[in-house]
Amino acid sequence: MRSVIVVGGGISGLAAAWQLRGRADVTVLESHAKVGGKLRTGTIAGIAVDEGAESLMALRPEAVELAAAVGLADALCDPAQAPTTIWTNGGLRPLPAGHVMGVPTDPAALTGTGLLSPAGVARVAAEETLEAPALTGDCSVSAYLASRFGQEAVDRLIEPLLGGIYAGRADRLSLRAAMPRIAALAEQGGPLLPALRRMRAAGAPRSAAVAVQGVTGGTGRFPQAVADACGARILTGTTARSLQRTPAGRWRVLAMTDDGPLTMEADAVILALPAFAAAELLRPHSPLAEAELSGIAHASTAVITMAFSRAQAHFLPQGNGFLVPPVDGHTLKAASFLSNKWSWLGASAPDTFVLRASIGRIGDEELLDRPDRHLVRTAIAELHHAVGPMGEPVATRVTRWDRGLPQYGVGHRERVARIREAAGKLPGLALCGAAYEGVGVAACVATGRAAAHTILPT
Ligand SMILES: Cc1cc2nc3c(=O)[nH]c(=O)nc-3n(C[C@H](O)[C@H](O)[C@H](O)COP(=O)(O)OP(=O)(O)OC[C@H]3O[C@@H](n4cnc5c(N)ncnc54)[C@H](O)[C@@H]3O)c2cc1C
Repeated sequence: MRSVIVVGGGISGLAAAWQLRGRADVTVLESHAKVGGKLRTGTIAGIAVDEGAESLMALRPEAVELAAAVGLADALCDPAQAPTTIWTNGGLRPLPAGHVMGVPTDPAALTGTGLLSPAGVARVAAEETLEAPALTGDCSVSAYLASRFGQEAVDRLIEPLLGGIYAGRADRLSLRAAMPRIAALAEQGGPLLPALRRMRAAGAPRSAAVAVQGVTGGTGRFPQAVADACGARILTGTTARSLQRTPAGRWRVLAMTDDGPLTMEADAVILALPAFAAAELLRPHSPLAEAELSGIAHASTAVITMAFSRAQAHFLPQGNGFLVPPVDGHTLKAASFLSNKWSWLGASAPDTFVLRASIGRIGDEELLDRPDRHLVRTAIAELHHAVGPMGEPVATRVTRWDRGLPQYGVGHRERVARIREAAGKLPGLALCGAAYEGVGVAACVATGRAAAHTILPT
């Protein structure tokens, strides 16, 4: 049986370990005390809450399939039905249904929402009349979509969605990598509005922002269930420091544990790590892969979770939360009203209202240098401004995700192709994780599966 070391016990690495179960002797090295990476469930006021990802993208099947396979089928749950709401122009304004990452399919439905000015709505509607040669090559989201729908639509409809998913900005993110469905239409040529309407009429997938599922009890249960079911040896508190090739062509991992250094050897190694961590380990083996991986920028964010006593709060908001465009000058990026959104959470703590706010897009690093108490005060002040005077929380918790979200800049797909080509020259090595073909949990699971396949084809 081949031996495989998976470095990184986030969902990507665990998905790879699951895929190899029964066919390889697998060891997973995870630097933290628990597996899961960005799928982490903590507690606030004794209530389980997600501190990182709170949902699994259900537009594609890989994450929900894996969750079901490891015994969590009954735990998968839908969020409460509510429109995506944008806090802009001084109010909370629902995005009309049918949008694709904020790109509207029916300009008329924007009228009266207060999301765009009348001129902005007219500019969106004019999209169908503009010449639209087929897009060739990559460009930023805003370069393309502002030319189609106007800058106002980018600022107030698309930018908040990109902030929510990537902690990114429209003028830096790649259209092809960050909005692949829109890019595919643009590459066919012709106006987008009729193409999007046809897609909708054909029953095309719902918007990424609503097609999600949660896990009763928290998404942190998911990686733990995969770890328990995959049969791999899981070494937590173990940080891989370097990677060596042995004279026999095997891989040796030098790691640090709480008890001191650890050296392990295996036939193959899968690096299921953030790009900068994979770059570090690959430096001696592939300067090209190292340079390309190091070129992927990462956004840092902070998640501020707050618990309010229902009895004492002056006011509790309706709906699932809201997204915020940077153009209005607010600090918040998004807020999620967990107690409304997830029925399991509402039921488990009926006297408490839990929400989380997030702060930090790419370029906001200075903002995140502020101490926790400052972030909490800012979040409370802006929440009061957005939804109304809720009063003071009874508990707060700040979770910082330093360099937590990779940014798919213009040319990202080509960069990933170069990384994969360079890594392909290293026998018995594969890469997976959020840095490559999608940051969502489902895309990460898919990369884990693919890495396992590279090492040991089925
Ligand atoms: C705040 C936040 C909210 C999000 N919300 C959602 C959401 O709602 N839905 C969604 O689909 N996606 C969401 N995402 C994105 C998604 O959660 C992540 O992209 C995904 O979980 C990344 O998984 P991964 O395994 O690739 O990486 P990670 O989760 O980063 O796992 C990598 C692991 O490697 C470990 N590690 C690092 N270096 C070493 C080393 N040298 N040796 C050993 N171990 C090491 C780390 O400790 C970590 O556990 C969110 C992300 C963030 C930050």
